[in-house]
Amino acid sequence: MSYIPNQSRYENMQYNRLGKSGLKVPAISLGLYRNFGDTDHFGHAKQMITTAFDIGITHFDLANNYGEPSGSAETNFGRILKEELSGFRDELLIATKAGYDMWPGPYGEWGSRKYMLSSLDQSLKRLQLDYVDIYYSHRYDPHTPLEETVLALDTAVKQGKALYVGVSNYPAGVTKQAIELFKQLRTPFVSHQPNYSMFLRDAEDNLFEVLEDGGVGAVVFQPLYQGLLTTKYVEGIPKDSRVAKGVDSISADQVTKNRIEMVQKLKEIAEERGQTVAQLAIAWSLRHPVVASALIGASRVEQIIENVKAIENLSFTDHELKEIDEILL
Ligand code: NDP
Repeated sequence: MSYIPNQSRYENMQYNRLGKSGLKVPAISLGLYRNFGDTDHFGHAKQMITTAFDIGITHFDLANNYGEPSGSAETNFGRILKEELSGFRDELLIATKAGYDMWPGPYGEWGSRKYMLSSLDQSLKRLQLDYVDIYYSHRYDPHTPLEETVLALDTAVKQGKALYVGVSNYPAGVTKQAIELFKQLRTPFVSHQPNYSMFLRDAEDNLFEVLEDGGVGAVVFQPLYQGLLTTKYVEGIPKDSRVAKGVDSISADQVTKNRIEMVQKLKEIAEERGQTVAQLAIAWSLRHPVVASALIGASRVEQIIENVKAIENLSFTDHELKEIDEILL
């Protein structure tokens, strides 16, 4: 073990309470959806994790299927924990999820009790942990009774394998029902992960209100719209970008002229605020009081450092918000 964490790591980060729970999350969390699998460079992945921890990121977000091949992000993160952060488990908030396709056959995806609990056991093995801090149902399963998925998450807590639970990508109405069910069970349901950014604002319609009423926090994912809400695509598609790599749900046809023009206009506002477009987009995604954390991804250390600086200016004037709304129309 060679890594010694930065002594002043907690000085600049802001920590927000998740809903009405006692749990605090950093305003910016790091996700391991891409760039932490077996096809990525392990030393580089390790450097991104330790850099994040050094600047106050305590919350790391995983899922059973993250990494290429699926599961490898958990395995690699487990190794990094063991090699570099083994004395720091109580300073870390580690989340994982199950819901998407993970193994063949009828028990390898969606929301059954069978899948949710066996997947958690597999995740814990890969992570080399006894428990995760937050265990999420990754997507709503319309063919499994909601009570079954809710009870499976509750069981994970009762088994001591998760401290808190969450859901992700659940529609507002189902989330409302889930809140009621978890209340009856007294399960610590603290977090909802919706996809939310300047380019995707659906969560504003009903979801944020449901979460606020229910005392549940939001950890919003893809605040940079996978990199489109930065200036990286303004001059074309860089060879080392996620779009060029073609490994993801983002492709060249989403880099539209309209979006690039929006980014150019957003850049003017960002500059007036002393920010980059990435920092502006992250700060903006955090402006609703129910949003406790913006969950970013990164392909290099410098991006993490740049993005975390978003917290240096999180407040917006009404005028700025109106200008941004007009750009995004
Ligand atoms: P982001 O919107 O944060 O995009 C991250 C990507 O944008 C990076 O990998 C990098 O791509 C680029 N980027 C980041 N910072 C900068 C910068 N400062 N300047 C230029 N480019 C930058 O979303 P992700 O898709 O990475 O998702 C973030 C996390 O959210 C995931 O890791 C996961 O934890 C969570 N998530 C949850 C989901 C769910 O269903 N619950 C679904 C998807 C994600 P490049 O390779 O081009 O450099």
